[in-house]
Amino acid sequence: MSDFKFPEGKEVPRGAVLPAPVKENRMMITGNWRTDRPVIDHEKCTLCLNCFIYCPDACWHLDEEEEKMVWNADFCKGCLICAVECPAFALTAVNELEFEDGVVRLEKPF
Ligand code: SF4
Ligand code: SF4
Repeated sequence: MSDFKFPEGKEVPRGAVLPAPVKENRMMITGNWRTDRPVIDHEKCTLCLNCFIYCPDACWHLDEEEEKMVWNADFCKGCLICAVECPAFALTAVNELEFEDGVVRLEKPF
Protein backbone atom coordinates (compact mmCIF):
# COMPACT_ATOMS: atom_id res chain seq x y z
CA MET A 1 0.00 0.00 0.00
CA SER A 2 1.26 3.49 -0.86
CA ASP A 3 2.56 5.84 1.85
CA PHE A 4 0.90 8.78 0.15
CA LYS A 5 -0.78 11.07 2.63
CA PHE A 6 -3.61 13.36 1.66
CA PRO A 7 -3.36 16.92 2.99
CA GLU A 8 -5.05 17.39 6.32
CA GLY A 9 -8.79 17.78 5.93
CA LYS A 10 -8.70 16.32 2.38
CA GLU A 11 -8.58 12.64 3.33
CA VAL A 12 -10.87 10.38 1.29
CA PRO A 13 -11.63 6.70 1.68
CA ARG A 14 -9.83 4.36 -0.77
CA GLY A 15 -13.07 2.92 -1.99
CA ALA A 16 -16.54 4.31 -2.16
CA VAL A 17 -20.03 3.15 -2.86
CA LEU A 18 -21.96 5.27 -5.30
CA PRO A 19 -25.68 5.01 -4.67
CA ALA A 20 -27.92 4.71 -7.71
CA PRO A 21 -29.74 7.90 -8.57
CA VAL A 22 -32.67 8.33 -6.22
CA LYS A 23 -34.81 9.68 -9.03
CA GLU A 24 -34.90 9.24 -12.80
CA ASN A 25 -34.39 12.44 -14.73
CA ARG A 26 -37.00 12.34 -17.52
CA MET A 27 -35.25 15.29 -19.20
CA MET A 28 -32.13 13.17 -19.70
CA ILE A 29 -33.44 10.03 -21.41
CA THR A 30 -30.52 8.15 -22.98
CA GLY A 31 -32.30 4.97 -24.10
CA ASN A 32 -32.85 6.40 -27.57
CA TRP A 33 -29.09 6.49 -28.20
CA ARG A 34 -29.03 2.71 -28.30
CA THR A 35 -28.32 0.61 -31.40
CA ASP A 36 -27.97 -2.65 -29.45
CA ARG A 37 -29.36 -3.73 -26.12
CA PRO A 38 -28.00 -6.17 -23.55
CA VAL A 39 -30.33 -9.16 -23.29
CA ILE A 40 -30.04 -11.25 -20.17
CA ASP A 41 -30.18 -15.03 -19.97
CA HIS A 42 -31.56 -15.55 -16.47
CA GLU A 43 -30.53 -19.21 -16.55
CA LYS A 44 -26.87 -18.19 -16.83
CA CYS A 45 -27.02 -15.18 -14.50
CA THR A 46 -25.38 -15.83 -11.12
CA LEU A 47 -26.57 -12.52 -9.58
CA CYS A 48 -22.96 -11.46 -9.11
CA LEU A 49 -24.04 -7.79 -9.57
CA ASN A 50 -21.14 -6.89 -11.88
CA CYS A 51 -23.58 -5.32 -14.34
CA PHE A 52 -25.04 -3.21 -11.53
CA ILE A 53 -21.56 -2.11 -10.48
CA TYR A 54 -20.20 -1.35 -13.94
CA CYS A 55 -23.19 0.23 -15.66
CA PRO A 56 -22.40 3.95 -15.89
CA ASP A 57 -26.11 4.77 -15.90
CA ALA A 58 -27.34 2.52 -13.09
CA CYS A 59 -29.54 0.58 -15.50
CA TRP A 60 -29.39 -2.78 -13.72
CA HIS A 61 -30.80 -3.53 -10.32
CA LEU A 62 -31.59 -6.67 -8.41
CA ASP A 63 -35.23 -7.47 -7.78
CA GLU A 64 -34.70 -9.22 -4.47
CA GLU A 65 -38.15 -10.81 -4.34
CA GLU A 66 -37.93 -12.27 -7.84
CA GLU A 67 -34.17 -12.88 -7.51
CA LYS A 68 -33.62 -11.47 -10.98
CA MET A 69 -31.65 -8.62 -12.47
CA VAL A 70 -33.90 -5.95 -13.97
CA TRP A 71 -32.91 -3.71 -16.87
CA ASN A 72 -33.96 -0.08 -17.39
CA ALA A 73 -34.74 0.40 -21.10
CA ASP A 74 -35.37 4.14 -20.81
CA PHE A 75 -31.85 4.96 -19.68
CA CYS A 76 -29.67 2.17 -21.10
CA LYS A 77 -27.65 3.85 -23.83
CA GLY A 78 -26.30 0.56 -25.22
CA CYS A 79 -22.64 0.96 -24.35
CA LEU A 80 -22.55 -2.80 -23.54
CA ILE A 81 -20.00 -2.43 -20.75
CA CYS A 82 -22.25 -4.72 -18.73
CA ALA A 83 -22.04 -7.45 -21.37
CA VAL A 84 -18.25 -7.24 -21.42
CA GLU A 85 -18.02 -7.36 -17.62
CA CYS A 86 -20.48 -10.20 -17.09
CA PRO A 87 -18.36 -13.16 -15.94
CA ALA A 88 -21.15 -15.64 -16.66
CA PHE A 89 -21.62 -14.54 -20.30
CA ALA A 90 -25.28 -14.03 -19.44
CA LEU A 91 -25.59 -10.76 -21.40
CA THR A 92 -25.76 -10.70 -25.18
CA ALA A 93 -25.85 -7.66 -27.45
CA VAL A 94 -28.91 -7.78 -29.70
CA ASN A 95 -29.64 -5.15 -32.35
CA GLU A 96 -32.63 -2.91 -31.69
CA LEU A 97 -34.06 -3.88 -35.08
CA GLU A 98 -34.78 -7.29 -33.62
CA PHE A 99 -37.39 -5.90 -31.22
CA GLU A 100 -40.95 -4.75 -31.85
CA ASP A 101 -40.36 -2.01 -29.29
CA GLY A 102 -36.84 -1.25 -30.55
CA VAL A 103 -35.94 2.42 -30.24
CA VAL A 104 -35.46 2.67 -34.02
CA ARG A 105 -39.11 1.70 -34.52
CA LEU A 106 -40.68 4.21 -32.19
CA GLU A 107 -42.49 7.09 -33.88
CA LYS A 108 -41.73 9.23 -30.89
CA PRO A 109 -38.75 7.81 -29.05
CA PHE A 110 -39.75 8.24 -25.39
S1 SF4 B 1 -25.41 -1.35 -22.14
FE1 SF4 B 1 -24.31 0.22 -20.94
S2 SF4 B 1 -25.92 1.60 -20.26
FE2 SF4 B 1 -26.93 -0.27 -20.93
S3 SF4 B 1 -27.18 -1.51 -19.08
FE3 SF4 B 1 -25.24 -2.12 -20.06
S4 SF4 B 1 -23.65 -0.87 -19.10
FE4 SF4 B 1 -25.64 0.07 -18.66
S1 SF4 C 1 -22.95 -9.43 -14.49
FE1 SF4 C 1 -23.95 -11.16 -15.52
S2 SF4 C 1 -24.01 -12.80 -13.98
FE2 SF4 C 1 -23.59 -10.90 -12.91
S3 SF4 C 1 -25.62 -10.17 -12.25
FE3 SF4 C 1 -25.17 -9.18 -14.22
S4 SF4 C 1 -26.07 -10.51 -15.76
FE4 SF4 C 1 -25.96 -11.69 -13.86
